[in-house]
Amino acid sequence: MARHGLSRMMTVDGIRLAGVTVGGLESAVRVPDWRLCFDMGRGDMETVKVGRVLFTHAHLDHMAGAPWHCATRDLMGMAPPSYWVPAPLLGRFQAMMEAWRALSGSALPHEVHGVEPGDWVPLDGRGLRGARVFRTFHRAPSVGYALVERRTRLRPELVGLPGSALGARRLAGEEITESVEEVRLAYTGDTGPEVLEEPCVQRARVLLLELTFLDGRVSVEKAEERGHIHLEHLLGRGEYLLNPHVVAIHLSARYDRDEAERILDARLPSALRARLRLFR
Ligand SMILES: [Zn+2]
Repeated sequence: MARHGLSRMMTVDGIRLAGVTVGGLESAVRVPDWRLCFDMGRGDMETVKVGRVLFTHAHLDHMAGAPWHCATRDLMGMAPPSYWVPAPLLGRFQAMMEAWRALSGSALPHEVHGVEPGDWVPLDGRGLRGARVFRTFHRAPSVGYALVERRTRLRPELVGLPGSALGARRLAGEEITESVEEVRLAYTGDTGPEVLEEPCVQRARVLLLELTFLDGRVSVEKAEERGHIHLEHLLGRGEYLLNPHVVAIHLSARYDRDEAERILDARLPSALRARLRLFR
């Protein structure tokens, strides 16, 4: 079995990513510039510093760190964390924290919100940054999150006009700007390949895509049963995965890094291989 549990760091398209993501063992991916973490299979002192955790689903390798994270922040005098979980899990998440309160005698201060596909999670006070929740396809209730930046730009047909002309149009009451949303990054969590159809996934500049199995050691059928993506699912799908940057996450611990890179080199079309990196 490959070594695991080592925190990785990489910068993709100007976004720093840090953490661990190994199928079945542990997933917790921090995005320091957005002051959040996706999932928390177990905590470490770096994740304690992050006050916002967006959980994709409740398998233990993605969520078991929550009570420890909450208690450790409290112990260290940090502000109560905020958590987001798929809406069908909200009641059980609250009951889990309540059980830990009773077991540990700790207050475990935090807030938790249930989210559904389409929801907007505000991540700044001005509505310019947030996470758009999207559908994923796992064997348990699950969602993915897309980090979205909203900005205002000149309407494309007006680009190139002199300032005086733009000013005249504005004075005449014309709307010369428009609001655009850019999906900077999408994190799928655990999911089958159906997620490739999701607009947030297709529009992401950086796609953190689960890719758990790479070869016949686990069959495509088994991958589908477990709600995971197999490399076979990505082959021959040139119309998908047009994202400028794809980061494969959640690789099974049965592959070590060098072996995985070799398999990807051999099997992926070169245009996709050039855009795909392994977070491992
Ligand atoms: Zn899972």
